[in-house]
Amino acid sequence: MSDSKPPNPVRHNPFQKHLCCPSCGKELVTAHEKHENICGELKCRGPWLQRKVAAENEEIRAKQAALLEGARERLRETSPDVFSRTESGELRLIVVPDFDAEMAQQSDERIAAFRSMLEELMVEAQATTQNAYRVKYLLSGYEPRDKDQSSTAILNACSTCRGQCCRMGHLHAFITADFLAYRLVHEEDADPEAIIDDYIDRIPEKSLNESCLYHTTTGCAMPREVRSGTCNDFLCLGFRAHKESIQDDPDQPTAVMAFADEEYVRLGVTEADGTRTERDLCEPADPKVG
Ligand code: SF4
Ligand code: SF4
Ligand SMILES: [Zn+2]
Repeated sequence: MSDSKPPNPVRHNPFQKHLCCPSCGKELVTAHEKHENICGELKCRGPWLQRKVAAENEEIRAKQAALLEGARERLRETSPDVFSRTESGELRLIVVPDFDAEMAQQSDERIAAFRSMLEELMVEAQATTQNAYRVKYLLSGYEPRDKDQSSTAILNACSTCRGQCCRMGHLHAFITADFLAYRLVHEEDADPEAIIDDYIDRIPEKSLNESCLYHTTTGCAMPREVRSGTCNDFLCLGFRAHKESIQDDPDQPTAVMAFADEEYVRLGVTEADGTRTERDLCEPADPKVG
C-alpha cells in the first residue's frame, strides 16, 4: 500500500486473536501497538503519526474558528458598538477561556509542601550548575519573554480570562530545576537559600481556590522576572492564531471574550491609549463599555 493513502481502518475485536497492522499487515504484538492499531515500524508509524497530528491540528483549528464565529454572534447581540469596531478591524477579536474561583486562606501544609519541592529542585539545580555543558546551554539558550512588561493585548486577554492556565500551577507554580539553575547562573551572587526564602515570602496570604499559590483576584502575586519560563512564555490556543500580529503590534486595541461552559461570559476591551473596560456578558449590557 502506498504511504499517501490512509490505511483501511481495522476494528478492535476482543474475540479476534491476531490484530494486524493496517499499513504493512504484520501482526500487532504489544499492547501499545494494538491500542494504536499500527505497528512499531518507522515506515508505518511515521506516516500514521503525521496523519494523526494533521487531524488533531485541523480539529483544533475548526474548534477555534467555531469559537470565534460564536463570539462574533454574541458580540453582535450584546455589544453592537464593539461588534462594529471588530468588524471594521479597529479592534482585534480574541477568544480566551475563563477561570472563576473564590479566594481561600493558604494552608501551612501547602506552603510546607511547596518549600520542600523547592528544596529538592534546588539540589538538582545546583548539580546542573556543576555541569559545564548544561551551563553553556543555560547561558546561551533561554531568556524569558516579556520579563519586563506585557503587551496591552496580552494583559487584556489574561485579565479577561482571569488565569485559566494558572490553575495547572496548583502546587508547583511551574518552577523547575532548570529554571532555578537558570537563575543561579544568571543572577549575580545568587544564593540558593535566599531564592527559596524569597519564593516563600512572596506567597500571598490568600489565593484562588484550586489554582496556583500565587494566583489572586488581581493576577499573579509574583513579579515576572522570578516567574518560571512556562509562566512567562505560555500562550493558550485562543492566542496562538494572533501571535504574529501581537508580536508586531503588542499594544493594539483588542476585544477579548472569555468562554466557559458553552457561554461567552465576559468582554474586555482595550483602547489605543491603553485604557481597559470590562463587561459581564451574563448581565444586561452596560452602555459605558466600548
Ligand atoms: S494565556 Fe490564555 S489561558 Fe492563560 S491567562 Fe492568558 S488568556 Fe488565560
Ligand atoms: S506563578 Fe503566577 S503566572 Fe505562574 S502559574 Fe502561578 S499565578 Fe500563574
Ligand atoms: Zn506496519
